[in-house]
Amino acid sequence: MRIHAIPVSAAMDDPGREHRDSEPGVPLRCCLRKSLPGEPVWLFRYSPSAGKGPYAEVGPVFTHVTCPTVPQSDDLPAELLNNSRVLRAYNAAGQIHDGHVVEPGSFARAIEESFNDPAVDSLQVRSLSHGCFLFAISRS
Ligand SMILES: [Zn+2]
Repeated sequence: MRIHAIPVSAAMDDPGREHRDSEPGVPLRCCLRKSLPGEPVWLFRYSPSAGKGPYAEVGPVFTHVTCPTVPQSDDLPAELLNNSRVLRAYNAAGQIHDGHVVEPGSFARAIEESFNDPAVDSLQVRSLSHGCFLFAISRS
């Protein structure tokens, strides 16, 4: 599998983006960890690429203003998976195929099971409480 983070440059696509000098504890979509005190971040509207047509959703995401690290593309980001999450599957047409609540420690198995279904093209990990997009996963 391949993990897809959001490049900080995506913030420039939203003219309504908000700059925050410090917003500790928010999930950063650029390096897939929680923010630390004193790290400047962008809050902006983002549409993950998997959803197409009526399934194209826009929601709020945070990234660093300048990201110090690039995440490994095939490592699950443990810091963002220590809570229950929604694992949402999309087919190649960009429609929602399936969705599951996944508990911490079960993500690798849940992802493997999802990709065992040939109709699944990609996955999105979202927060359980707010539904916010965290990151995408594709087959490698
Ligand atoms: Zn970052």
